[in-house]
Amino acid sequence: MVLCRSEPGSGTPELAARPGFWYAGRMNLPTEVVEMLGQTLAKVAPVTIALALVFSVLAHFWACNPGRPWWRKRELVTDVCYWFLVPLFARVFRIGLLVLGAALLFGIRDADELIAFYDNGHGPLSRLPLWLQAILFLVAADFMMYWLHRMFHGGGFWKYHAIHHSSEDVDWISAARFHPVNLLLGTIGVDVVLLTAGISPGVMLWLGPFNIFHSAFVHANVNWTLGPFKYVVATPVFHRWHHTSRREGGDTNFAGTFPLWDILFGTFRMPKGTLPDQYGVDDQSSFPREIIGQLAYPFRK
Ligand SMILES: [Zn+2]
Ligand SMILES: [Zn+2]
Repeated sequence: MVLCRSEPGSGTPELAARPGFWYAGRMNLPTEVVEMLGQTLAKVAPVTIALALVFSVLAHFWACNPGRPWWRKRELVTDVCYWFLVPLFARVFRIGLLVLGAALLFGIRDADELIAFYDNGHGPLSRLPLWLQAILFLVAADFMMYWLHRMFHGGGFWKYHAIHHSSEDVDWISAARFHPVNLLLGTIGVDVVLLTAGISPGVMLWLGPFNIFHSAFVHANVNWTLGPFKYVVATPVFHRWHHTSRREGGDTNFAGTFPLWDILFGTFRMPKGTLPDQYGVDDQSSFPREIIGQLAYPFRK
């Protein structure tokens, strides 16, 4: 995902289902937060088990880098923490930014009005068939993410994105390792822009599960290139090349879903007859390995 689109269990914007979030003044906020945490965990747990099973089998037969299985990967605890915290963080911030966007851009402050505003989208985009809105969302989001990802590989933003690249044993569970700043200026920001533009949140019902599976898939330890389809959709080998060091020719394969952007803008890299096998950042030996250190890392630079 890309600035991998990788928020397991991030799902729908949940606006209509969670009016209490901005009614918080007259509700019990701690109860709301605990309830939201419980709901997120209940949503993420079964998805995690399913992904673990699928990618254990695939890596057993088609490993890109034979060796230790994902459950013996270095920094597994760190990745598990991100895996469960990121969906919660994404959910809270997505709702917060949608509320802020509606208030600032459309002057909507009333809770019922807000729910009606986002319920089925608004304006011309919301009148397109849902399948067309889904395609539009997928393509527009991927295009924006491509450029945001390139931005994160440059100067001042790299320290936030370096966390995602600090995984030495890249595997499906690495997919959620993102600094919150990277998420806000990445998937969360892009989702909010498109929903505020009017696309119906209903498209998330289809795109949410696809994005979760696909971002875990491109990080999985699997040697699939999908033959000629490598130009159509991002594969594990395509994205694993992105995780190799800059010295190895990094700064390539920025696309989350469609390698077309990399082909068009000259950043596509899939060397023939060889597979990537070294991952991480240039200052790997001094890079923090646990989540707290990683979250603080950009602010200490
Ligand atoms: Zn990157
Ligand atoms: Zn990645």
